[in-house]
Amino acid sequence: MFKKILIANRGEIACRVIKTARSLGIATVAVYSEADANARHVRLADEAVLIGPAAARESYLVGERIIEVARNTGAEAIHPGYGFLSENDEFAEACEKAGIVFIGPPASAIRAMGLKSASKALMEKAQVPLTPGYHGANQDPLFLASQAESIGYPVLIKASAGGGGKGMRRVDAAAEFAAALESCKREARNAFGDDDVLVEKYILQPRHIEIQVFGDTHGNCVYLFERDCSVQRRHQKVLEEAPAPGMTPERRAAMGQAAVEAARAVGYVGAGTVEFIATQDGGFYFMEMNTRLQVEHPVTEMITGLDLVEWQLRVASGEPLPLKQEQLEINGHAIEARIYAEDPDRGFLPSTGRLVHLLPPPESDHVRVDTGVEQGDEITPHYDPMISKLIVWGADRREALARMRQALAQYRVVGVSSNVDFLARLVAVPSFANAQLDTGLIEREQARLFPPAGDVPADIWLLATLAELLRERRLAEKKAAQSADPNSPWRALDGWRLNGRSGRQLVFRLGDAVQEVGIEFVPGGHRLTVGGLQVVARGSLGVDSELQAQLGERRLRAAVVASSERRHVFFDGRSWPLSLVDTLHVGGAGEEVEGGLRAPMPGRVIALAVQPGAIVEKGAPLLVLEAMKMEHTISAPRKGVVKAFHFAPGDQVSDGAELVDFEGAD
Ligand code: ADP
Ligand code: ADP
Ligand code: MG
Repeated sequence: MFKKILIANRGEIACRVIKTARSLGIATVAVYSEADANARHVRLADEAVLIGPAAARESYLVGERIIEVARNTGAEAIHPGYGFLSENDEFAEACEKAGIVFIGPPASAIRAMGLKSASKALMEKAQVPLTPGYHGANQDPLFLASQAESIGYPVLIKASAGGGGKGMRRVDAAAEFAAALESCKREARNAFGDDDVLVEKYILQPRHIEIQVFGDTHGNCVYLFERDCSVQRRHQKVLEEAPAPGMTPERRAAMGQAAVEAARAVGYVGAGTVEFIATQDGGFYFMEMNTRLQVEHPVTEMITGLDLVEWQLRVASGEPLPLKQEQLEINGHAIEARIYAEDPDRGFLPSTGRLVHLLPPPESDHVRVDTGVEQGDEITPHYDPMISKLIVWGADRREALARMRQALAQYRVVGVSSNVDFLARLVAVPSFANAQLDTGLIEREQARLFPPAGDVPADIWLLATLAELLRERRLAEKKAAQSADPNSPWRALDGWRLNGRSGRQLVFRLGDAVQEVGIEFVPGGHRLTVGGLQVVARGSLGVDSELQAQLGERRLRAAVVASSERRHVFFDGRSWPLSLVDTLHVGGAGEEVEGGLRAPMPGRVIALAVQPGAIVEKGAPLLVLEAMKMEHTISAPRKGVVKAFHFAPGDQVSDGAELVDFEGAD
């Protein structure tokens, strides 16, 4: 076994490899870019070496530099992780030339599986089932059209050199074929400098089922069963699970055997994945082989009880596979969810920033969190915005699903947008819960996955308010403790009356919903007023912003995390990123306001708090303005009627602009 290895990657996979290496007594060398100087993988490794600037092209993709670091540090082998250099045959070859073990398949196997049409030709020879189609050399448009005709519509045109879904065109009728072919070729030419295409049967409602294979240098090759990765968005996996629901032992053996044939056909060594497209009635066809460790490999580890990185290290150091096919068994069910810093409501736009608060669910034998970041770390725009992979195990799918729901409900991310709430809705969608899987699931379930914002439950405003009051009290207590003067005003712990009044309000906002909460100090707590609802609230704040709340007769557990003006309420398995709004009484108490309320400074209108025509009390919030990076509420100067707003949310306003047509009541 190796004494020291280098990990040519970053993030969760680098951390995960370091963990296994350490458990085997192997020293680790991390490499990092300038953007990753304090990254978790750098903190975890025994040694770490800076290899270049943030851009992957100038750091994680510079093979020579990485090999040089391996040489200088005495690392005997390089683990490439996934992405970056993991499927680069030239890098694998360069490692070999430098006398360093590449922990992966031989360069020749990577090359053989690199091109779609060539790999299909190889697979055909190895009698691996292929999607009916044409992947030959004849590129004459009329010939290809006749092939499409005999395959039968709908068909899929793919770029031979393709990847990432680029160039792919679904064609439903002969009349559309020529135009689709032309546009596929154009895209392929631009993206890959190669416009050869293949044409295949378009499978309706397909499932993505892949087989984990493992080969060694002694001629052994086994399959470690399947993973179902059908839940995708834009051909990107979102949830993965093992085993595949509905899989029969016969089909598992047939797919496993086909995958092993595929691997053997290219002299495969190490961990690899053969991806199949599967029909609803059980048919399956070779799609491509990923010649590396897969992001979703943990679900296989959870159901087999094996450590695939350990297997990779053993195989790469020349040992035979630890187990034979007949010794491998499936135990229970595992599901993985990819936790990303992204905004599902804005087309899954990646989100960057500091992870101000990051609390994953507690790990156990059944819950695993693979991550490359901790609270306080930053999600930068340079790399994949993955926060972690959350993997759960259950004795069966139902139990695994229940654990996934619970774990997602516990997951708290503040500082960047995340897909946690989206994933929670996704695992609760009946078609997923009932395992009616196909690659169109997310598309089809739009209505459930992106429900209209809806009303914010009153509890949320109440919890945010209570947390705020408790936070104020904690601050007051701290100041009192620090103050030597026994008569200091900070010692007056009924600090709620700091502003000299016994009644006050806090204003919160979520999107364009603005809510005022009235607060009165009562013995042992506060009477809070939200709309027509009044409730006496008391409670305590614990570590990690945990809130124990008593609202009237009810006891609730929540967390309210403050980050600048944000007050993230986590409650009932969901989160509400409220803002605490700084109130600004325009015009001042008692001052006559003729006609309109004016903007106190240039800014942007972000929300209207009432409808035009509303009759409001003095101090009621009317409109929220964002100015100088702060939010300000424009409130009613006295009792009156809001006749009209002169701006809509999103509008920019200049200093002094008239905002509201307000008529005071006598
Ligand atoms: P696939 O989706 O191709 O079947 P995986 O689900 O295993 O494979 O995901 C691998 C993908 O993740 C890569 O194709 C790449 O886009 C992305 N990726 C790989 N490595 C990294 C990395 N270190 N950092 C960020 N993103 C990565
Ligand atoms: P790429 O290399 O661009 O990722 P793949 O051939 O691996 O291309 O296919 C990517 C995705 O496209 C699959 O996961 C599947 O969702 C869809 N797909 C591929 N082939 C077919 C097909 N014949 N019929 C229907 N969908 C397909
Ligand atoms: Mg693919």
